[in-house]
Amino acid sequence: MKEIKTVNDFNFENQTALIRVDFNVPINEYYEIIDDTRIQYSIPTIQKIISEKGKIVLISHFGRPKGISSKTYSLKFLTHYLYKKLKINVFFHENCIGETVVKKVNELKNGEILLLENLRFYKEEEREDKNFAYELSKLGDIYVNDAFGVAHRFHTSITILPKFFGKKKCIGLLMKKEIQLLGQFSYGKGKRPITALLGGAKISSKIEVIENLIDFADYILIGGGMSYPFIKMKGGMIGNSMIEKDQIIEKTLKKIFFNKKMNIIHLPKDVIIADSFKNEANTKISPIHSIPNGWMGLDIGPFSIKKFCKIIEKSKTILWNGPVGVFEFSNFSLGTRLIAKSIANTTEKGAFSLVGGGDSIAALKMEKYDKKISYLSTGGGAMLASLKKNKIKILPGINAIK
Ligand code: AMP
Repeated sequence: MKEIKTVNDFNFENQTALIRVDFNVPINEYYEIIDDTRIQYSIPTIQKIISEKGKIVLISHFGRPKGISSKTYSLKFLTHYLYKKLKINVFFHENCIGETVVKKVNELKNGEILLLENLRFYKEEEREDKNFAYELSKLGDIYVNDAFGVAHRFHTSITILPKFFGKKKCIGLLMKKEIQLLGQFSYGKGKRPITALLGGAKISSKIEVIENLIDFADYILIGGGMSYPFIKMKGGMIGNSMIEKDQIIEKTLKKIFFNKKMNIIHLPKDVIIADSFKNEANTKISPIHSIPNGWMGLDIGPFSIKKFCKIIEKSKTILWNGPVGVFEFSNFSLGTRLIAKSIANTTEKGAFSLVGGGDSIAALKMEKYDKKISYLSTGGGAMLASLKKNKIKILPGINAIK
């Protein structure tokens, strides 16, 4: 962290900060923001620069327009929102590069903000394009990356653009906070016991995280579809439960199995099985290692919920990413909802909790526990990428700032 500059290392007076933010917020059909966490967390960076009488150019992506401009994915709706939030002049320009944008930037007064249109209206954004980066680099004196949600992406505004700023580049305060908090897990710096709960369908996105955390955590709890590759490797019968298989997963799983700290990994012992993948399926409780053919595990069972909650309740530092069942189906959501409750209650009693990933945050919100969590990460993919073995320092967005 020491070799990475933050906005606190610069004085922005009379300087134009080109800030890469992640304003990819969920909205409803009326373009009302359903969850503005990502914007809220970037406000301290913006305020620091404004209070020093700097100027700001904001660049962000929004949705997946795949290089095509459209009203649906325009960022214009945020202009008024930002003005109301910050009580300062916020202008908008419908392009990201070109003479008219440069002119608009030059007209900015100290303490004003210019928000540019969706970066992904340019197909070059997702292609690490030097020319596009060069054109963007004309828009600021200091580059700031405060877009943790895309820090794991090899996109022009993340990895190439900072190269044009020499030493005048840094991370914002949102980014700094995410990296510091994740350090509690990836380097085991948090108060013990440290517990990580990983769930969801895809083991491929989390297996390297397990490989890393096994060296630092006290407990690793695994639930959801990603428990089945473990059960299968142990010789269990998993019926028609989902299983993601490939050679790399199998190789890494074997490595984990032979790690002398394998005993800190806890898998569900019982699961709710269903005879089809739908909410109204017939169900019963089964030991996870003997699921009959034609049946699939869709939630963790009562014994496992109890055991997982007991571990969470004695933990002082808790990380959660991924549901422990198909929580979108109400009949298979109990495990995830009770886990969310247990993490919220344990946080209220003084533990530190960090939750990331759209599904886990959605589950917390479903039960109105989100406000009780110590920190909701603004990036699910970036959070996982930074927790992989030895990866925190090489998140592309961070590497580009060094
Ligand atoms: P991921 O993107 O890997 O975090 O996976 C999230 C998805 O995993 C959610 O949509 C859940 O419905 C799904 N999921 C969790 N547990 C299971 C399971 N046992 N079988 C199938 N899908 C699951």
